[in-house]
Amino acid sequence: MIGAHSTCMLIDNHNRKINYLRLAVTDRCNLRCNYCMPSEGINFLSSDKLFTIEELCELSDILVGQGIDKIRITGGEPFVRKDLMVLLRHLSGLRDLKEISVTTNATLIGPHIEELKELGILNINVSLDAIKRQTFERITRRDQYDTVFSNLERLIAEDFNVRINFIVLDGQNISDIHPMMELQKYYPVSVRFLEEMPFNGGSREFNRIRWDYKKILDYISEKYPEHSPLAAPPTSTSMNYKVKGHKGTFGLIPSFSRTFCGSCNRLRISASGDVITCLYGKPSLNLREIFRRENGREQVEKAILKAIGSRFKTGFEAQKEYQNIFETSMTSIGG
Ligand code: SAM
Repeated sequence: MIGAHSTCMLIDNHNRKINYLRLAVTDRCNLRCNYCMPSEGINFLSSDKLFTIEELCELSDILVGQGIDKIRITGGEPFVRKDLMVLLRHLSGLRDLKEISVTTNATLIGPHIEELKELGILNINVSLDAIKRQTFERITRRDQYDTVFSNLERLIAEDFNVRINFIVLDGQNISDIHPMMELQKYYPVSVRFLEEMPFNGGSREFNRIRWDYKKILDYISEKYPEHSPLAAPPTSTSMNYKVKGHKGTFGLIPSFSRTFCGSCNRLRISASGDVITCLYGKPSLNLREIFRRENGREQVEKAILKAIGSRFKTGFEAQKEYQNIFETSMTSIGG
């Protein structure tokens, strides 16, 4: 049965339970990662096209009421929003929300580390595609290396569950892969290597990638042959490994090869309010306008059910229907 069950569960038209929301709170970012958007940025949304923080709180209430029990806050850079902590405080008070996490570039998180800890928001994904200063500055086009590494050190020292997401970029950061592995050798962090995806705000088109997850694993295995696979939950998008004697773990995310669609439990709401049921697909509908109508709450509930009831089975199917995929930037979708 499609829709909300009496026990508040969202089930899609392929019988997959949807309990994970990725919520983009802005499309603005203070970095300009070259694989994500052009150096001049994209056409950023005016503030009336973003949800207010009160709307984001209410929207979260609605979705948690429908069966979402895990929310990841993303963006753009979420900490660019000065009122972000208002939302995080609200989420931390929701009884039925089992997990809150944040994806960040770690440039602006510093002043909030203490409060995040107090709120129990300990799952922090840091996007970091370099370990050498030169690689970092070339990819991000910004001078934030020291801030990022000092915040990363603090997060680790304060016992956050830190996951580092490293996009493997042909010709740009391959020589940073082995040094990045050293980070998880000495620190209890999980480093996940991701395939590049075609969402770069129109900078470049590609239909295949040189560094797929198999090639990344082969490259890692050249230096770290003694790794063994770790068990992962069925909805996990990463294949995780532990190298003998290392404090942390590493993983691979086949985000371009898309081996994980069969167990997809995710729903995305973009910064502009688009509901995205597959990263590779067209937005299903826009919630912002619906939400601002009379009876907005009920209409949002219905719209969510509609979107979840008509999902594509895989990212390949979704992409066939969507011509403008290369125009999209991950800074609007939220990664
Ligand atoms: N600013 C936050 C951050 O840096 O984590 C959140 C937003 S960012 C758009 C979310 C994730 O999308 C980052 O991990 C980033 O590396 C990833 N991303 C952006 N463009 C991508 C692309 N073309 N292929 C793969 N991942 C991409």
